[in-house]
Amino acid sequence: MATRSVHKLRELRELLHPAVAELISLDDAGVLPDVDPVEDGATFAANARIKARAYARLTGLPTLADDSGIEVDALGGGPGVFTRRYAGPAATDAQNNAKLLAALGGSPPDLRGARYVCVLVLADASSRGPEQGLVPVIAETRGTCRGRIATSPRGTGGFGYDPIFEPLSEPPGGRTLGLWSAEEKHRISHRARAARRMAARLAALGY
Ligand code: IMP
Repeated sequence: MATRSVHKLRELRELLHPAVAELISLDDAGVLPDVDPVEDGATFAANARIKARAYARLTGLPTLADDSGIEVDALGGGPGVFTRRYAGPAATDAQNNAKLLAALGGSPPDLRGARYVCVLVLADASSRGPEQGLVPVIAETRGTCRGRIATSPRGTGGFGYDPIFEPLSEPPGGRTLGLWSAEEKHRISHRARAARRMAARLAALGY
């Protein structure tokens, strides 16, 4: 799994539960940070492919990579691939949230639509693909989670933009994901949806 996050690894183990394969992190595989690829793709899928292919080539192991972020309707789908560094290269979650709230100003609820997106990619150097020289991508799944941007942060659960993200099932001014339990979020999250689809693909591929 192309991650160094223990949290992400645990979450994906729970969601993917492969029958045969064992999911290990980059650190478990002995991959040093100085070889991390530049994620300069224009889409979540492009960035997930960059990571999956780079680590599959390095390790010789089938590699899963994810990329995720938030797309805000009023920003034409932005910040998109810039989600993590929306307010600058080393931006904190609070700074990113504040910048997004400022960008939407006092817009009414129907102009605050947004969605989380997650793309998962499986690359495997040992399988043959049509693209010369590139490690083949053998599965790619996507999950989204629609909602709207709140008018102020509420709640401390989750991470990233969760304190300002109201899932669609909530009324405007209702609970943000920062106020949802982890179990509730798992049922509807972009990552869980992409992972459930990937779990089916892994099963079909014999992993
Ligand atoms: P990455 O996929 O780890 O690069 O994450 C991209 C960024 O998207 C994170 O740093 C968060 O700011 C944001 N993000 C992705 N998924 C979530 C989520 O479930 N809740 C809140 N923010 C998220």
